[in-house]
Amino acid sequence: MRVILMGPPGAGKGTQADLLINKLGILHISTGDMFRKALKEKTSLGLEAKKYMDAGELVPDNVTVGIVKERLAEPDCKKGFLLDGFPRTIPQADALENTIKELGAGLDKVINIAVDRDVLVQRLTGRRVCKECGATYHVMFNPPKAKDVCDDCGGGLYQRSDDTVETVNNRLLVYEEQTAPLIDYYRKKDLLLEVNGDQEVEQVTNDILRALGRVKA
Ligand code: ADP
Ligand code: AMP
Repeated sequence: MRVILMGPPGAGKGTQADLLINKLGILHISTGDMFRKALKEKTSLGLEAKKYMDAGELVPDNVTVGIVKERLAEPDCKKGFLLDGFPRTIPQADALENTIKELGAGLDKVINIAVDRDVLVQRLTGRRVCKECGATYHVMFNPPKAKDVCDDCGGGLYQRSDDTVETVNNRLLVYEEQTAPLIDYYRKKDLLLEVNGDQEVEQVTNDILRALGRVKA
C-alpha cells in the first residue's frame, strides 16, 4: 500500500504515522525527519536544509524531490510506504507521480488530516520531541510521565527550533499558499480521503483505518 498523509504542520501526521505503520506493515517516510537527520549528521544536505527550516520556508523542490526519489528506489520500499510531509507543492506531487510510475506502481490513497489554525498553533508550540528516538509528546495534550524525559527510551526531550510562535506563523502561511492546493489536486484525481484531526489520537487513527477500508465501519 502506498499512501500520502497530508495536513498542515501540527495536524498529527507524525503521531498517526507511527501508529499506522505497524497496523499497515509499511514504511514511514518523513521528509522533515530526513532533513533533521541530515542536519544532526552535519551533511551538506542538512546544512542547506537548515537555512529554510529555521525560517519556516520550504526546502527547494529539486533538493526535496531528489532525496525522496532516491529513498523510494530502495528495496525496502517495495512493501509499501506512508509519506508524511511530502509532497508539499504541486511540482513535488507531479514528480512523485512520475517516480511511482517509473517504479511500476501507483498511489493508493491520500489522507488529509484537517485541524483548525488555533489548535495547530497550540499543538506546535507545545510539541516536544525525544532527542534519542524521535517520539513526539505535547506539554498539555500528551505529556511524558516524567518532565522532559521520554517514556519509551529515557532520552531527553527538546523543542524543535521551528516550533516557536514566529516560525509557526510563517509555516502555516507557507502551508496555505503552497501545500493546501494539493487537497484539490488529489480530490480531482479521486484519491482524497478527509479525516477530522481535532479528535483524540486513537479516534483519528480509527477514522484513517476506516477510510482506508482496514476496519469495519
Ligand atoms: P505533524 O507531524 O503533522 O506536524 P505531530 O504528529 O508532530 O504533527 O503533532 C503535533 C503535536 O500535536 C505533538 O505535540 C503531538 O503530541 C500533538 N498531537 C498530535 N495529535 C494530536 C491529537 N489528536 N490531539 C491532541 N494533540 C495531538
Ligand atoms: P516537518 O517535519 O514535516 O514539519 O518539516 C520541517 C521542515 O522541513 C519544513 O518546514 C521544511 O522547511 C522542510 N521540509 C519538510 N518536508 C518538505 C517538503 N516536502 N518540501 C520542502 N521542504 C520540506
